[in-house]
Amino acid sequence: MANNEKTSAESWRAATQLVHGGTTRSPFGETSEALYLTQGFVYSGAEAAEARFNGEDPGFVYSRYANPTVAMFEDRIKMLEGAEAARATASGMAAVNLALMASVKAGDHVVAAKALFGSCRYICETLLPRFGVESTLVDGTDIEQWKSAVKPNTKALFLESPTNPTLEIIDIAAVAEIAKTVGARLIVDNVFATPLYQSPLKLGADVVVYSATKHIDGQGRCLGGVVLSDEEWITDEVMPFVKHTGPHMSPFSAWVLLKGLETLPLRVARQSENARQAADFLAEQAAVAKLIYPGRDDHPQADVAKRQMTGGSTMVAFEMSGGKDAAFRFVNALNLIRISNNLGDAKSLITHPATTTHQSIGEEARAELGISDGILRFSVGLEDPLDLLEDIERALAAV
Ligand SMILES: *Cc1c(COP(=O)(O)O)cnc(C)c1O
Repeated sequence: MANNEKTSAESWRAATQLVHGGTTRSPFGETSEALYLTQGFVYSGAEAAEARFNGEDPGFVYSRYANPTVAMFEDRIKMLEGAEAARATASGMAAVNLALMASVKAGDHVVAAKALFGSCRYICETLLPRFGVESTLVDGTDIEQWKSAVKPNTKALFLESPTNPTLEIIDIAAVAEIAKTVGARLIVDNVFATPLYQSPLKLGADVVVYSATKHIDGQGRCLGGVVLSDEEWITDEVMPFVKHTGPHMSPFSAWVLLKGLETLPLRVARQSENARQAADFLAEQAAVAKLIYPGRDDHPQADVAKRQMTGGSTMVAFEMSGGKDAAFRFVNALNLIRISNNLGDAKSLITHPATTTHQSIGEEARAELGISDGILRFSVGLEDPLDLLEDIERALAAV
């Protein structure tokens, strides 16, 4: 298989890497990435099979281990992230679970920020303790809480920034320093920031995870995830877990997500610009009690955002003055912006976290995270911003 593009790929700029990075071509010389929808691979002889299995020949063995289309996706995103190695997974949750499972064993301890995507919180709070791994949840924006939570047996620190749904910003470099003091691995879920607006590895994190379901696909089609880190850890800890437990990405999803990566910078830039316009508009409305947008100077952690992010966000959070009633009336009056719990999509989507994504954590946990009954999470899409503003204006009038 000819790979005539890798020689200069490392020096390309991000947008170029996202179009060409990692591409390998079959002898047919196809323009687009080939979809290798195959479970296994055949060998030219018994000796060739032996060489594959003992590692003398680095070729493919079985798609649970690796697959050429999935490898193209891994190589492309690895380049963008500036990571040594990547493993793609079936979903974002498979990636988070993989990163944590590859970091801990019974008797270890994990510290995580409280403001986590619901299922990530379930792994830390409920699943890990079941296997003898203790976990402590802290207010991620309070660096002192991270400091006092770490212990000699702390093996992983875990956070997302900006957080879901209230878009808090956690100081990644400061948490990375704390991880180093106890030799723990800092895992950052970088979904909300996207690989374009935040580079956790450069800020001192050890592992970055994505739900590729969100901005990387960005068009509502398939689930996917990826874990990025150093070569040694991926080879020694992540690969055996993947090989023997099977959370790998399907070649079909990898193919869709490769095409998603090609247009990622265009979509994220346009969606963030639309989000900023929506945020600025919502901030001026009497019915909106609070507006949270990482690109605005009135964000509670605006200084940290400026330090560690190179762009705003495609997400806006805001609180309606009239609580749940007003939030429901507003959402029901929208007719372009759709009610859905997904995010990062070309279509603008809105959700009421207290009754959907964050219903199961309970009222007390929601109060701690600032998820009041009036809070709405708005994922801003690729529509004409004027149509979005008109939809919002019309719905506000109905409240
Ligand atoms: C969606 C999401 C996940 C889970 O990803 P799936 O692809 O849905 O499994 C994890 N973390 C964050 C921040 C997310 O937004």
